[in-house]
Amino acid sequence: MSRLKQAVINNKLFTMVLAAYVLISIFIPDKAVQSFQNSLFYVKEMIMIMPVILLLTSLIKAWVPQKTIMNNFGKGSGVKGSILSFLLGSLSAGPIYAAFPLCKTLLAKGASISNIVIILCTWAVVKVPMLLNEAKFLSPKFMFIRWILTSISIFIMGYIMSKLVRKEDIPVNVVNTGYSINNVLINRKYCVGCGLCVKIAPQYFEMNNKKAKLINRDVKKDEINNLNKAIEKCPSKAIKRSSGDG
Ligand code: SF4
Repeated sequence: MSRLKQAVINNKLFTMVLAAYVLISIFIPDKAVQSFQNSLFYVKEMIMIMPVILLLTSLIKAWVPQKTIMNNFGKGSGVKGSILSFLLGSLSAGPIYAAFPLCKTLLAKGASISNIVIILCTWAVVKVPMLLNEAKFLSPKFMFIRWILTSISIFIMGYIMSKLVRKEDIPVNVVNTGYSINNVLINRKYCVGCGLCVKIAPQYFEMNNKKAKLINRDVKKDEINNLNKAIEKCPSKAIKRSSGDG
């Protein structure tokens, strides 16, 4: 009995869906057949699409260096990162749920929250195949104006989300040595420009306009001590890292 209870607790969503099916079958049997057919359609679609997406995410995990993701989709990627994210989402194919594992992998490898929001939103509402269909059915003018307004909203949404959600809020295992440079921050207001961090860990810090600046690169296991030392020795405590970081 306790095993069954544990199985129910571990699979809450599945249990709820099963219970819903049972209730529909009892009270509105004709709708039960229809909903079962709809579910079957989506299951078939997922079986066809998900292996490709999982293969793609595995390839990104294994072959694309973290530095490449951070440079192109990370916090410091700026306008380039936003445009690349917009293109990636727009040129994608497949339903939106296929984007989630891909985005999780990108996030784990250093992509920023705002760029992930841009990828997800463009994937969902301004994909190229979708735009072509929209133009066919609702006129090119309708499609174009909606595309412009939606695109502006997507960039604004990405910015707002990056202010409201932090990476630590998302259950993602950072893919690296267990320590991400993405989670190190320099408060330029407090930085007195002494250059100590650059001396201690020149791989990760440089001076810019008399203030320290982070160098966006992978943190190597054998260099973590230097990075920690720089954080610890900063006289104005301008360098911070999130507590979850190893
Ligand atoms: S050690 Fe601290 S105060 Fe000195 S340059 Fe680096 S961040 Fe600025």
